[in-house]
Amino acid sequence: MARLIHTIQQIRQQVDDLRAQGKRVALVPTMGALHDGHLALVEAASKQADAVLVSIFVNPLQFGPNEDLQRYPRQLQQDKHMLDALAQVTAIFAPSADEMYPKGFDTNIVAGELAKRLCGAARPGHFDGVCTVVTKLVHIIQPDCMAFGEKDFQQLRIIEQCMADLNLPVDILRVPTLRERDGLAMSSRNQYLSVDERATAPQLYATLQSAAEAIARGQKVQDVLAHSLRTLNEKGFDPVDYLALCDEKLYEIAAYQPNARLFVAAYLGSTRLIDNIAV
Ligand code: AMP
Repeated sequence: MARLIHTIQQIRQQVDDLRAQGKRVALVPTMGALHDGHLALVEAASKQADAVLVSIFVNPLQFGPNEDLQRYPRQLQQDKHMLDALAQVTAIFAPSADEMYPKGFDTNIVAGELAKRLCGAARPGHFDGVCTVVTKLVHIIQPDCMAFGEKDFQQLRIIEQCMADLNLPVDILRVPTLRERDGLAMSSRNQYLSVDERATAPQLYATLQSAAEAIARGQKVQDVLAHSLRTLNEKGFDPVDYLALCDEKLYEIAAYQPNARLFVAAYLGSTRLIDNIAV
């Protein structure tokens, strides 16, 4: 059974105990409302470590003023139940906002160029909040490795850059996106979708796949993106924040190159969905 810990002092004690036993420690940072995608991160982490810690923290710093901080699903007991079923999870670190950001907290990590594009353009400050909380978690837990999902590929790249830039000695594991059977990328925010929206949602991935195939066949990227954008609008994704082919550094590119990925963010009703695939 996973131990549920709410304070920094106690999680540090837990990590000290694991270290005293010579164990390699992995951290899986999450915001909770866990699904099988999160469990895939635990699985990947457990292959690289003797003990896995999962953090569950809805980080206020990474939500903009008009975003879904209040509405974001919080279901700690259900999450704990899911993690209890996994023998690899030693403890869940679920701090309060006051524990992480006590009165007077006054320091932020500012993410750089990588955070200005794609989701960063629509969500100013979001990746600063992500970098700040992840850096704090790394200092609190000092894990040997951390697992992040390719579902949030930009976040993954920014964290890799942040850890490297700040010389934090932690290996980052990239975990492929886990999908529902109909292709929709698993996400805690899928809970927001109405029945009709949920029926439409898989079209996001389907459209990405068709676009990737067309680009791989050699069709002009600009034409493929224009066509895919029209398709998304017709299916009811409105607005589409971005649909772009990007290189490894997340710069938009106009022609295929190795490691190119397609990225999309689009609204279905009031729910913002993101996805990306390798081309
Ligand atoms: P979140 O709780 O949404 O902040 O996500 C926590 C971690 O789980 C991040 O590293 C995400 O990229 C990862 N994640 C979320 N959804 C998926 C998914 N469908 N497949 C793989 N990883 C995911």
